Amino acid sequence: MIDDTAIGKIIEKYDPTKLAIGTLGSHSSLNIFKGAKEEGFRTVCICKEKDAIIYQKYPLVDELIVVDDFTDLLSPSLQERLCALNVVLIPHGSFTAYLSTEQLTDNLAVPLMGNRRLLHWETNRKSQEAWLRQAGLKLPMTFKSPDDIDRLIIAKLQGARGGRGYFLANSPLDFYKKSEEMIKRGLLTKEDLAYVHLQEYVLGVNAYPSYFSSILNNDVELLAMDRRYESAVDSIGKIPASEQLEINIAPTYTVVGNFPIVLRESLLPEILRMGEHVHRKATELASPGIIGPFCLETVITDDLKIYTFEISARIVAGTNVGIGTSPYAYLRYGENMYMGRRIALELKEAIKQKRLSAVVA
Ligand code: AMP
Ligand code: AMP
Repeated sequence: MIDDTAIGKIIEKYDPTKLAIGTLGSHSSLNIFKGAKEEGFRTVCICKEKDAIIYQKYPLVDELIVVDDFTDLLSPSLQERLCALNVVLIPHGSFTAYLSTEQLTDNLAVPLMGNRRLLHWETNRKSQEAWLRQAGLKLPMTFKSPDDIDRLIIAKLQGARGGRGYFLANSPLDFYKKSEEMIKRGLLTKEDLAYVHLQEYVLGVNAYPSYFSSILNNDVELLAMDRRYESAVDSIGKIPASEQLEINIAPTYTVVGNFPIVLRESLLPEILRMGEHVHRKATELASPGIIGPFCLETVITDDLKIYTFEISARIVAGTNVGIGTSPYAYLRYGENMYMGRRIALELKEAIKQKRLSAVVA
């Protein structure tokens, strides 16, 4: 694992007056680059040729590095180039979707804003569950084997795939039948099945609060909230139940976008405390805890219980709904604050206080 000392040595050589903010060109990159520009940073984007149009239409990138594949980020020559450009990388969903945890912790020697040691806790479902439970959050029940299924469950694949390949089942038989169907439809592979995670399906509505953990201010801020727009599950209601039964639809959860939401104010105290507790527990697991953005994925039931089924200890794409502003960012900062800008602001403050090494790993 690339440790803090190694990253500390690289950061020491950086020219803080020329610090650049870099990331992979996808997911929440526009959010990150816009925030970086508004705080006066140079920006570096590692992107695929086919996606370069994004940065022509939204000219927020100073240095565009075209790669064939996102795994090229691991090549020593590209890493040297990024370090020479004084780049701090901002990890987002594409980092964990296209690179493995080991690749990120062992082979990526460019400073990242965030806590590398938490990555293991986040990407391993069992450790993640332990972290959230120990932080005092309510979680849906999990089942060890498909044979134990005794209620409606949601079957999930390992890793961030935006809900692709998830399916519901309400008995062992149903599970085996559906998984075969999913394999036939090419939404799942046989290998995936070995790692499938079985979680009680909580009936309720989703809310994804996004927080920012500021190491410099020793505070956790709530900055945005969203819910997802998922295909095909969000389209099922468009066809009558009789047709649904006839064509035997198995709902899938491929994310295609997000909506902003605001919560009933009486739910806020718990949401705020959940963010605090998750960070506090993280300080025990991997000091100094969460650095920067994180998001809790929750379901809220009709008796107003908040169940958390996942955490992302990085910026989530749902914060894109807040580019410019969101009610929660506005309440705290006034106009024109959002996750990408909050990240840049923390880096700017770290440079001012000569504490850059406190916010990178
Ligand atoms: P992409 O670069 O679009 O393939 O996204 C990388 C990962 O983040 C994938 O696992 C996506 O499913 C997930 N992701 C991308 N956009 C969103 C979004 N708007 N909301 C939630 N997850 C997303
Ligand atoms: P994810 O990709 O893990 O964020 O989840 C994809 C979809 O599955 C979202 O619509 C979630 O609301 C839904 N989901 C995930 N876990 C649960 C659960 N335990 N109960 C109900 N819905 C869930």
